[in-house]
Amino acid sequence: MDEAKREEIIKQYQNRDRVVRILSNDHKFRAVALKNTDSARNAQKRHNTDWIGSFLLARTMSAAAMMANFLKGEERIIVELKGKGPVSSVYGEAMSIGENRGFVSYSPDISDKPIENIGEALGAGVINVTRILYDRPEPVQSILPLQKGDVATDLAYYYQMSEQIPSAVILDVDFNEDGIISHSGGLIVQALPGTTQEELEEVYSHLVGIDSLVRYFDDDKNPRDILEEILPFEFEVVRSSQLDFLCRCSKDSFISRLKTLSVDEIKDMQEKNDNELVCRYCNEHYYLEPGDFDTLIEEMQATRN
Ligand SMILES: [Zn+2]
Repeated sequence: MDEAKREEIIKQYQNRDRVVRILSNDHKFRAVALKNTDSARNAQKRHNTDWIGSFLLARTMSAAAMMANFLKGEERIIVELKGKGPVSSVYGEAMSIGENRGFVSYSPDISDKPIENIGEALGAGVINVTRILYDRPEPVQSILPLQKGDVATDLAYYYQMSEQIPSAVILDVDFNEDGIISHSGGLIVQALPGTTQEELEEVYSHLVGIDSLVRYFDDDKNPRDILEEILPFEFEVVRSSQLDFLCRCSKDSFISRLKTLSVDEIKDMQEKNDNELVCRYCNEHYYLEPGDFDTLIEEMQATRN
């Protein structure tokens, strides 16, 4: 391999989506920083979302990906914001191992009135955080009223109210001239038990001055570099994980879900050639072939007789 090619591959690897978690040397703060430009852009492309939908989707996926980094293995976080505005819901889901997916739903009676501030997109509503954890038989759910509907403020509010963890949250998305996501990233800094109000405020005062997080990505900086530049304390990296837009859906999983319907309903679908199955999480389209219907009906009749 020639040197230029080698350098290109190394650069691609260094620039890929990543979540980095740190712990301050004095154990008073933990933080997680994220770059998820490719995942957010992938979601925008798959769902063909407009500007405001892409903006909220990227931020919600960022929130989920960072929160999931505090979990283990296949433990999962779902962050869903629901409102009465033109965007009726935005959904972000992430697994601790680095899988991320999401989608946006719009209100059917969408108005042409331009949105003047981000809070109007969702309007009044709720943030719903669901954690699926190994040691809990049921998902752990928390529902709180939306504060600003900008995701970042709502997430900080969630951490304060539901987990009693003082948190500073920055989420940042940028677009190119064609309206395509050019950068997406985020940062959460959390105070651990024993931190004084003074220490907390000192760290917060460093963060309020940050007008843009993603500008660091312009200089090929990764989440670790950003943490080193921004945080006013020494730390060690606890975890650095790659992140991808990934949905575990498959044609087979859709077909097995059809088995909850009746044989007559399946026959009806077959007659109407109602053969398109769409995943709402990743917008993948699957099509049932005539043979798929036959096999499905045969299998259903065999198990029901
Ligand atoms: Zn899917």
